[in-house]
Amino acid sequence: MAEQAPRDIAAGCTPYPPPLVQDYRRSGLWGNDTISQQLLRVARTHPDQPAVISAEGTMSFAGLNRRTDQLAVGLRSLGLEPHDRVLLQVGNQLSTVLAWYGLLKAGLIPVCTLDAHGGHEIGEISRRVGAVGHLVDAGSQRRDLVTFARAQQDGHPTLRQIITLGADGLDLPAVEDLGSDIDAADAAEEVAAIQRTLDPDGVAVLQLSGGTTGTPKVIPRLHAEYWYNAEAYARAWNWGRGSRVGHMIPLVHNAGITCALHAAHSVGAALVLATPVLDQALPLLARAGTTDVLLGHGHWSAVEHPAFAPLTRSLRRVILSGAKVPPGLTKRLEEADIWFGQLFGMGEGLFTITPLEAPPAARASTVGVPLSPRDEVVLLEPAGDRPVPDGEVGELCCRGPYTIRGYYDAAEHNTAAFTTDGYYRTGDLAAWRTIEGTSHLSIEGRIKDLVNRGGEKVNVAEVEGLLVDHPRVREAAVVSMPDARLGERACAYLVTDGQPVDLQDVQAHFRRLDVAKFKWPERIELVDALPRTLVGKVDKRRLRDDITSKLTTTTESPA
Ligand code: AMP
Repeated sequence: MAEQAPRDIAAGCTPYPPPLVQDYRRSGLWGNDTISQQLLRVARTHPDQPAVISAEGTMSFAGLNRRTDQLAVGLRSLGLEPHDRVLLQVGNQLSTVLAWYGLLKAGLIPVCTLDAHGGHEIGEISRRVGAVGHLVDAGSQRRDLVTFARAQQDGHPTLRQIITLGADGLDLPAVEDLGSDIDAADAAEEVAAIQRTLDPDGVAVLQLSGGTTGTPKVIPRLHAEYWYNAEAYARAWNWGRGSRVGHMIPLVHNAGITCALHAAHSVGAALVLATPVLDQALPLLARAGTTDVLLGHGHWSAVEHPAFAPLTRSLRRVILSGAKVPPGLTKRLEEADIWFGQLFGMGEGLFTITPLEAPPAARASTVGVPLSPRDEVVLLEPAGDRPVPDGEVGELCCRGPYTIRGYYDAAEHNTAAFTTDGYYRTGDLAAWRTIEGTSHLSIEGRIKDLVNRGGEKVNVAEVEGLLVDHPRVREAAVVSMPDARLGERACAYLVTDGQPVDLQDVQAHFRRLDVAKFKWPERIELVDALPRTLVGKVDKRRLRDDITSKLTTTTESPA
């Protein structure tokens, strides 16, 4: 047990209303199984099918199931107890998949932190969720995560167990061999016993939201609804055991877990797990005969890459996500005779997709329709409670069988983030568009203050707070600036004490605070005063226009 036992995770969660839970279950949307029990069912149905194809090797469903049973028992032998939280800082590799299911089978709760997170994020999140374990990639090219993990334990009330991927010669348990000497049948029995103690409506996973105030918010996802989300997504694309689902975006994100790992496995399909680097990823996807792939904004250039052509021999479908899709991209896919569609999704829940039967115009210009027949979507006047007239732009608000009812342990924030009748205010702007007689959702911008850097969300309020901690900075306003590759990057407007502050100063400041690099501003503009609106708020629109026109007139782009 942890030195100071963290409080029960359920106490910080907002439950779904019980009549709705009954309805979702009666309608067959939610099952009665945990994620681990779902994997077991699939492994029994498709034992010899490949479950994971990666640069490190291929593993069948039977192999994955057996090895993760052993790993789960190995994790328990470290003294980790069901419901203990484990932080994940790992990349896309076969062992990450083993670790994921091993943790779930042991009844542990993965916390989807990123390998990019520094002490600034891990220190705060690990305390908020009472994390006990910390899984890190010992071979990370980015930095020495093992030393980092050891440092994080210093003075921490609960964090005490480091687990590694690929630790060679280190005196730490490694996913690759933990539990490998345990008899497989005994391990299966022990996992079954652990799973019987878990509630399918209990918390399975903690995801993180980019957040728009202070610090990132924690998203509790439950076994039954999380698996339903993934399976509904897989079925919408008609995936089955012959499908090979490629994935290049970091796996331990909501998109990676839901759209790739769980979705593929829910229907007995193989996950083709690649890293985000196209030069390596595309040849692996081609060799594995990938049939479907999700391309986030940061990977749209894949279609122009020389290694894309061999992939088109097996590729049937590309799902585009993350931002408005340019016509050149859809044209290129049409020329290659590849079906394309769009996904709009979020860690908090709601997915909308362009269904297989949607007309090409809807697939090119909209994000389609909600995934579930039980999803409820309303477009409200921003910050108000009144629906906008048909066809007009409003804030996309949603509730349904896989959308959270509240962030974890965030009562005050939840009152603003949800309507009184339980709709989640996404902060995205949308409108219904009728195309060939059917309504489709079109994303028209956002009101939430964040920078979407190639899919990683930068919480602007958090970065501004860090900037004004710099001794020479008096005021700071961060806005997105357009970027051809990543969609957006962060530009900081600063008012200083009269002394200049440049990008190097800001980078040194963020390095000292150990802030994840994707949040670092990538351009600094010094101003005498921040422009204000009539009500005294910083006029971000003016700042965005200013930086966009500077970039357009100089055609400069940040490195
Ligand atoms: P995350 O929870 O990190 O997946 O981020 C969810 C947010 O990403 C949404 O609320 C949107 O702001 C943005 N997003 C996701 N998909 C799309 C899309 N297809 N088009 C535009 N924005 C998107």
